[in-house]
Amino acid sequence: MKTYQVNQDGYYGDFGGAYIPEILHQCVKDLQDAYLKVLESDDFKKEFAQLLKDYVGRPSPLYLAQRLSEKYGCRIYLKREDLNHTGAHKINNAIGQILLARRMGKTRIIAETGAGQHGVATATVCALMNMECVVYMGKTDVARQHVNVEKMKMLGAKVEAVTSGNMTLKDATNEAIRDWCCHPENTYYVIGSTVGPHPYPDMVARLQSVISEEIKKQLVEHEGRDYPDYLFACVGGGSNAAGTIYHYIDDERVKIVLAEAGGKGIETGMSAATIQLGRLGIIHGSKTLIIQDEDGQITEPYSISAGLDYPGIGPMHANLAKQHRASVFAINDDEAVKAAYELTRLEGIIPALESAHALAALDKVKFKPTDIVVLTVSGRGDKDIETYLNYYK
Ligand SMILES: *Cc1c(COP(=O)(O)O)cnc(C)c1O
Repeated sequence: MKTYQVNQDGYYGDFGGAYIPEILHQCVKDLQDAYLKVLESDDFKKEFAQLLKDYVGRPSPLYLAQRLSEKYGCRIYLKREDLNHTGAHKINNAIGQILLARRMGKTRIIAETGAGQHGVATATVCALMNMECVVYMGKTDVARQHVNVEKMKMLGAKVEAVTSGNMTLKDATNEAIRDWCCHPENTYYVIGSTVGPHPYPDMVARLQSVISEEIKKQLVEHEGRDYPDYLFACVGGGSNAAGTIYHYIDDERVKIVLAEAGGKGIETGMSAATIQLGRLGIIHGSKTLIIQDEDGQITEPYSISAGLDYPGIGPMHANLAKQHRASVFAINDDEAVKAAYELTRLEGIIPALESAHALAALDKVKFKPTDIVVLTVSGRGDKDIETYLNYYK
């Protein structure tokens, strides 16, 4: 049977793999050998499920948004990842990876972060598990994301401001990889999305797949059937989308709609629409689509939403787009902000700017009144209030 899941070598069609420096070879091989055994063990499953329930607050509700549904002429359910502890889906993955790190005997945790959301999630679980935590963050981002930096420090993490390159996410990632190369024995690298060398994209997708596992059960309760007609999610690296579609990926009854960040418009040079603009290359140890110039230099991406301005995309999603399994829309800043205000006024839910991109994509599809749509609200908008308020000034 045709599948859109990863193959044995860590590829999704043409995309994926593990392109890493020689010195990390053993480290990544150990991880490849360990991750499925651990994730499928009863002991891991039990501890992961318990923490997701009591610490994160899962299952997250599946909410039938009545007024939003009326507006778009279908039945729209919101998967409320915004109600998780720390305000987004990233905690699901961070908990899973820390439990894996402990089982592999690692004592030190490193992570990279752009906007700081993944850094905060990682620092949170390190506090919970009493583990040393170092977070690499570009100096530009440290200045832009002051509150998240303070949160990480309060949680006990060391924040390393990276001063190479443009001093943003790409540079922080290079620095984290450099650290990993220097301490492969005791250090575990927590990657925050479905990116990086195999097995990270598959591992992160599996850890986030609790989202679609819950959707299946919750749809039966609401609608008497376990699948929707449409799934909507935003894509930065792809983890909330991967979790949303995981158990439906090979079910062709379910249409998949992904929203990437168009920024100021894909033709303006200020965009993070990797699927529309990217060409094949290697980033963070993975072969995927990358926004790059003619010399193959990675172009600095732009989006109003800090969580979506990644110059690459998870290999799973690159393949879904190439195979036409998913429809992908580039959503511009103004469309995302408008959609955020719309959800706020119709439903009393202020979404994260990232999630607002998925909401804006509702406008791109023509629905039937009987269509059942599930849209993942990946995070809450508290962190984005200033951006929302300043946008129309
Ligand atoms: C980080 C983040 C994203 C983008 O990351 P994915 O791995 O693509 O899910 C989306 N929404 C929120 C709220 C985030 O914090």
